[in-house]
Amino acid sequence: MTTTAATETTPSTGLDHLEIRGVKKVFGENTAIERLDLTVHKGEFLSLLGPSGCGKTTLLRMIAGFEAPTDGEILLAGKDIVSLPPHRRPVNTVFQSYLLFPHMNIADNIAYGLKQAKVPKPEIAQRVREVLALVQMEDFAGRRPEQLSGGQQQRIALARALVNRPQVLLLDEPMSALDRKLREEMQLELKRLHTKLDTTFVFVTHDQDEALAMSDRIVVMYDGVIQQIGGGEDIYANPHNGFVAGFIGKQNFITAEVTSTDSGIARMRTANSTVLEAPSLDLRPATAAGQPRQLQVGDRVRAAIRPERMRVARATADTTAANSARGTVMSYSFLGDVIQYMIVVGDNDEILARVPAAGTQPLAAGTEVELSWEADAVDVFGSETGDVGPREGGA
Ligand code: ATP
Repeated sequence: MTTTAATETTPSTGLDHLEIRGVKKVFGENTAIERLDLTVHKGEFLSLLGPSGCGKTTLLRMIAGFEAPTDGEILLAGKDIVSLPPHRRPVNTVFQSYLLFPHMNIADNIAYGLKQAKVPKPEIAQRVREVLALVQMEDFAGRRPEQLSGGQQQRIALARALVNRPQVLLLDEPMSALDRKLREEMQLELKRLHTKLDTTFVFVTHDQDEALAMSDRIVVMYDGVIQQIGGGEDIYANPHNGFVAGFIGKQNFITAEVTSTDSGIARMRTANSTVLEAPSLDLRPATAAGQPRQLQVGDRVRAAIRPERMRVARATADTTAANSARGTVMSYSFLGDVIQYMIVVGDNDEILARVPAAGTQPLAAGTEVELSWEADAVDVFGSETGDVGPREGGA
């Protein structure tokens, strides 16, 4: 949790970003992290996002120094930090549990690391004051942790990490113990802090909304492998594989078979005879060699269409046009700005559609509807087995 006085005053070299090169982590028989490369830019807010067990915490703990990589290098400002113990690295971690010392008041909790590093007393007092102001908790210096709410304790945990002036602030699901409203407030607070400071933030979360709301870039992980890195909008609009398409945002997956691939248009047919057309002939994910493979007649695929790309209208005549389907409204929910429909097509294809709520009356359960979508709303992925990026030595 602490850092040295020497690193606190190191001037910016312009190189002080984080580079993870060929890092791998094996626990016994279990490979938690496959050989992984990642560059974190100076001052960016980067989120590691993925389901439980994907390896995001392990990666963060290796940056912090709580775990040693089985292989690979971790460079900060061009220097390998792997051999440095946690307290000698110019990084600090904020954990989900606040880990404040119960017998110390707030000011002493924040000052603890600086005292250990033998920073002069007047400087400690000054820095504690500054950091309390930064997290807007100036009036709480004399209180004990148990006299603060969960959200306030988390702010103090942040202050305690920031007082060391780390080059990189690591945040391990720091808001998961907070209720939803407080969590949203803390998200804004963290963004505000990040904008104010020149610090690189690496944030671990399994919550895609949180990652989308806060990050400059998101690293989507699954099974110890990076699936995609990019800005939230890019990942949402252009997922590289079926896992990413399904993990970020709501998604409709429709299983279909390719029936023709003429003039740059792939035609696909579902079991209930819905015809889909998509402009791309590339099947994602790319092969292990990184080459997209062209769709071929007979390929079994999963087409993905976002709920907000679906149009919903009362059915008039039966439709046989491509990129449309007749269905029945099973239920709807009013979500404020949108109405979300659950619509069944054919025997049991459940389709989620989200349409703007303004000026429309919801269509009741049982209403026969026509769904339609544009060809560019259709993303095409391999069948489920080819759904994620390959592990090392995999296909
Ligand atoms: P969560 O969101 O549940 O914390 P995560 O994505 O952070 O999950 P990790 O905690 O990094 O995942 O775990 C990745 C894999 O490594 C899991 O299979 C986990 O069981 C394993 N693992 C993590 N730490 C250890 C350890 N100390 N010993 C053995 N296996 C471990």
